[in-house]
Amino acid sequence: MTMFTGLAPIQIGVAEPSTNSTSNASASGEPEHARVVIVGSGPAGLTAAIYAARANLSPVVLGGYEAGGQLMTTSEIENYPGFPDGIGGPELMGLFRTQAERFGARVLDVDVDRVDFGSRPFRLWAAGVEYRADAVIVATGASALWLGIESETRLRGHGVSACATCDGFFFRDKEIAVVGGGDTALEEALYLTRFATKVHIVHRRGSFRASKIMIARASEHPKIELHLNRTVAEVVGQDRVEAVQLSRTDEPGEETLPIGGLFIAIGHRPNGGAFREWLPSDETGYLTVEGETTESAIDGIFIAGDIHDHRYRQAITAAGEGARAAIDAERWLETAGAVSDEPATLAAVL
Ligand code: NDP
Repeated sequence: MTMFTGLAPIQIGVAEPSTNSTSNASASGEPEHARVVIVGSGPAGLTAAIYAARANLSPVVLGGYEAGGQLMTTSEIENYPGFPDGIGGPELMGLFRTQAERFGARVLDVDVDRVDFGSRPFRLWAAGVEYRADAVIVATGASALWLGIESETRLRGHGVSACATCDGFFFRDKEIAVVGGGDTALEEALYLTRFATKVHIVHRRGSFRASKIMIARASEHPKIELHLNRTVAEVVGQDRVEAVQLSRTDEPGEETLPIGGLFIAIGHRPNGGAFREWLPSDETGYLTVEGETTESAIDGIFIAGDIHDHRYRQAITAAGEGARAAIDAERWLETAGAVSDEPATLAAVL
């Protein structure tokens, strides 16, 4: 990635840190200027905020109306290091946020509607306020796709999950169903055989779209049973999953499958939104980074977390990317001459 030498100097006008959690649009309607604006408040965005704040960059986090990312719907996290007894998703994200705010990050629960990365400073609009940034970290994550039935939503976190790596451990010695016919569904089903007594794969068509090797592995696994040409009509259970009601898609017919857990693996949608117009993405919509860094194709814009990582999709890996993005942004700002001579830089605090 090249530096943007030859452009007009970046204006610095750092907003005062505040604990206000909603948009604090300036009364004058003037744009707010920050050295670093971070978009997204999941593990990647808030870790970037902690690192950027500790580097005296006074980051503004435009965290979204549904702040906290996917962990806000995860009841218990047992694989985040440092919490040997596990921790609730919302509680963990609350701690991330408190830590970021303690060092001066300003976290605003607003959605970014529009961006202009065509000139500097970069411009972003959220809840009617224009933000200007010398550097931007995009950490908007990806959202798991859900079936969209009421019982699935109600039992999310109570036996319905979209992440086998996160939640599989809770289903030891139970029968589990996985919905989907792609590589993720089959991979999750194979992973879940470590815990479950039996794994049922429910797929709406008669053939899988997954790779041949994964189909062979799943079909041959003694603990896996395939239920093709079926969709989930209803998740049965009041406070926890007890069964799924399946409808056939090739002929009339319904059946009930008693299970203790249901994993939805029908794909993820990267939250590229307003950024897609400016930043390159792959064929499935995930933003792409340059080489082994968090740099995007535009100097000064950095990318972290599930918005580009469709391979690992873990809180810890997203947090790690947030740290990397803040380090990349700080070093880039320093080299571009946009960081004033304040005593602490990221390199100094590391
Ligand atoms: P995919 O889009 O490949 O598959 C989604 C599956 O969910 C499809 O079988 C689809 O059915 C089904 N589905 C979608 N919507 C619904 C719905 N509303 N109701 C019921 N079923 C539904 O997503 P994946 O997450 O599996 O994979 C994404 C990408 O990541 C792929 O390119 C995949 O190859 C890759 N990947 C690679 C892995 C690896 O290499 N180890 C591991 C995991 C993923 P239908 O087939 O009928 O459309």
